[in-house]
Amino acid sequence: MEIFAYLLLQIINGEDWKPKFSESKKYKNWISTLDFKTCYDCRKSHGKIWKIDEKPDKEPPLHTNCRCSILIMKTIKAGTATINNKYGADWTLKYQSKLPDYYIDYQKAKISGFKNFLGNLGKVAPDCTLTKGEYKNRNGHLPNK
Ligand SMILES: [Zn+2]
Repeated sequence: MEIFAYLLLQIINGEDWKPKFSESKKYKNWISTLDFKTCYDCRKSHGKIWKIDEKPDKEPPLHTNCRCSILIMKTIKAGTATINNKYGADWTLKYQSKLPDYYIDYQKAKISGFKNFLGNLGKVAPDCTLTKGEYKNRNGHLPNK
């Protein structure tokens, strides 16, 4: 994991956050160097995931001076991705196939009196996190199966 991403996650989770990193046995993903020189096609491919034995439809380099590669995915052991441990979404999604109970959808938040323009979620639903619902894979970055 890039040191910048790690530091950002540490700022979010606090200094007690001690994730357990590993490498995926199943998946690889496209990693682009993201900056002002990154071209559209490389940027669009950044983060796309395949099974390890799958052959991507296109592979880097896409052009001269392409700084992309397809690497084995880094993983974080479930229960260590946040300071919430077994109450974190990483753990409940893996072992219970659901988000933690403190995740509420927009409809439920609205019933409690949530108004987006007031930013009052913390007042009407304390300690809750808003979920926007089902992940649709619109950019096609997740494998089909
Ligand atoms: Zn590239």
